[in-house]
Amino acid sequence: MRFARPPAFPVAALLATTLLGGCLFGGRDAPRQSTPIHERRSGPVTLNGPTPRDTQQCFTDLSRAQVRYSPLPDRDFGSGCIVTGAVQLLDIGVPVTGLKSMRCPLARTFTGWVRYGVAPAAREILGSDLVRVESFGTYSCRGIIGNGAASARKMSEHGLGNAVDISAFVLRDGRRITILGGWRSPDPEVREFLSVVHQSACKRFRTVLSPNYNAAHQNHLHLDMGRGPFCA
Ligand SMILES: [Zn+2]
Repeated sequence: MRFARPPAFPVAALLATTLLGGCLFGGRDAPRQSTPIHERRSGPVTLNGPTPRDTQQCFTDLSRAQVRYSPLPDRDFGSGCIVTGAVQLLDIGVPVTGLKSMRCPLARTFTGWVRYGVAPAAREILGSDLVRVESFGTYSCRGIIGNGAASARKMSEHGLGNAVDISAFVLRDGRRITILGGWRSPDPEVREFLSVVHQSACKRFRTVLSPNYNAAHQNHLHLDMGRGPFCA
């Protein structure tokens, strides 16, 4: 049996190949068709989905955590975009805009991050409660291009419902902390808040890409449960 394994590139090249493009767009207003396709090598995707048992356990975990959600039917959108074991999050305690289907483990990790990473950081560092999280979305079937290896495919984790892009946090006092405006804010507390939020994400998700990674991520945090760990 042959296993698909990445070629022995130098680490930096491999990371660039693998991670450049966990996500790709410039924001919800950015024209999708003009954005470059950044993709990642994820191997034969159909073999990597969660088992029904994993999914059931994850649903149980969400219910125990008092998360309101709807299970979604498994779907094969073609072109390698397959979403299995996904949910639509309805209420995790803090409103989150723009979420569509997410694989359950991503939804579970995301909920924990918002509740135990972001919300406490807002309260402790910025002195106000988190009242809304804004996202650029989750599922998005992004083009797949051949990479020369017969058994490998390249695609974004977004095409598997396994990634979410977070753009802003809104506080009860009315402040809206965007990744774009806050990452290099003159206000040290805003910078510290985003730094803590970023570090918390890196402890929970497999791959985290921030404005530190490249210009394509200057306005959002890309969080996914694909390959990793990688934190930038
Ligand atoms: Zn992304």
